[in-house]
Amino acid sequence: MVTSVSILGATGSIGTSTLALVREGGFRVVALTANSDAKKLAALAKEFDAEIAAVSDEGAYAELKSLLSGTRTKAAGGASGTIEAASARSDILLSAIVGAAGLAPTVAGFAPGRKIALANKECLLTAGSLFMREAQKAGATVLPVDSEHNAVFQALACGKRDAVKRVTLTASGGPFRTLSRERLALVTPEEAVRHPNWSMGAKISIDSATLMNKGLELIEAHYLFDLSSDQLETLVHPQSVVHALVEFHDGSVVAQMAHPDMRIPIGFCLAWPERLEWQAPRLDLAKVGSLHFEAPDHERFPALFLARAALDAGGSAPNVLNAANEVAIDAFRARRLSFPGIPALTGAVLEKAEKEGLYREVSTVNDALGVDHVARSLAATLLPQFAAKAS
Ligand code: NDP
Ligand code: MG
Repeated sequence: MVTSVSILGATGSIGTSTLALVREGGFRVVALTANSDAKKLAALAKEFDAEIAAVSDEGAYAELKSLLSGTRTKAAGGASGTIEAASARSDILLSAIVGAAGLAPTVAGFAPGRKIALANKECLLTAGSLFMREAQKAGATVLPVDSEHNAVFQALACGKRDAVKRVTLTASGGPFRTLSRERLALVTPEEAVRHPNWSMGAKISIDSATLMNKGLELIEAHYLFDLSSDQLETLVHPQSVVHALVEFHDGSVVAQMAHPDMRIPIGFCLAWPERLEWQAPRLDLAKVGSLHFEAPDHERFPALFLARAALDAGGSAPNVLNAANEVAIDAFRARRLSFPGIPALTGAVLEKAEKEGLYREVSTVNDALGVDHVARSLAATLLPQFAAKAS
């Protein structure tokens, strides 16, 4: 049976890896979206004979429409076009837009029996409880694409939920794992986007370098698996071979291992509950030789502390954390903020947001996006103080 799939963020790193698996056969593409890269999106829509292709950026719509004229693919544009693409009927919705922009289209894509393969962790950061509740209400199944969460999902299958004691997410430690504080202050955006093990988009690569990615993933795990903060731990593991470990009450620890390649967790989600048969890169442990583990250094990588504090504060604190971090990363990439300035600015925004009563439960997607908006404004207001320190 051919499985139909739609991809939000088809032109990105996860989108590209997903389409590489789709090329292996057994899938039919229904909808593809991008932000503004009309050329790449149109080429993909033609190659996969998609029913609908959408660019979120209104300005790119005319180009997409003209590139797709004469084909059977419908061109769509703007927020409503992306929602239309997300809502088009297919078995699987792969959610891989980067940032909070992924929330509304992913929620719009919930449908009975539909598999939501979730790469966009910001859906959970901006509206975790609401997102999981709405998915359940709609009868959709959320499957984690993020490699650590995919690993937890697989390991959890080895025991009953009430037998789970602890879950550990591993972190590669990023490209600056061994750098001194002094050297960290001089890190450039070009250095930060070069991840030692994974090939990923720029934003998540920088998050891996600050270890904020692992902090965001703690929060992601909390919402995905309903685990409390004290059940969640992180462990630095530079080889990125063991992706997560689940410890049960009887002392057994179940870990999932795989070669660090996002096509493996993506393929898991596409085929679930079956297993995909493809030429997956083999994990050759003899070649890896040894596996190393160490506790994360919170002094040099304070982002982990901030994320833990946001997780413990609950409500919309993770949303504020995520928004402030996105603003800080944009400023870092524009050379307006130093590398240590990213967690410094994010921490200051969290503090201010708490004082201003911004931490509250949200009940709608628009409500969540409202908090995101206010947190970004707060970050923009505070940025000059930190930017000054960067120069
Ligand atoms: P990329 O930056 O490579 O790709 C982002 C995709 O989203 C592109 O298709 C881009 O379109 C589109 N996009 C960007 N901004 C918007 C917007 N405002 N509205 C609509 N579409 C937009 O990101 P990644 O593939 O690396 O990451 C995607 C998501 O998956 C992120 O949430 C990330 O945290 C998560 N993830 C990624 C992993 C990885 O290995 N890359 C691992 C685990 C999770 P365009 O090309 O037109 O700009
Ligand atoms: Mg991950």
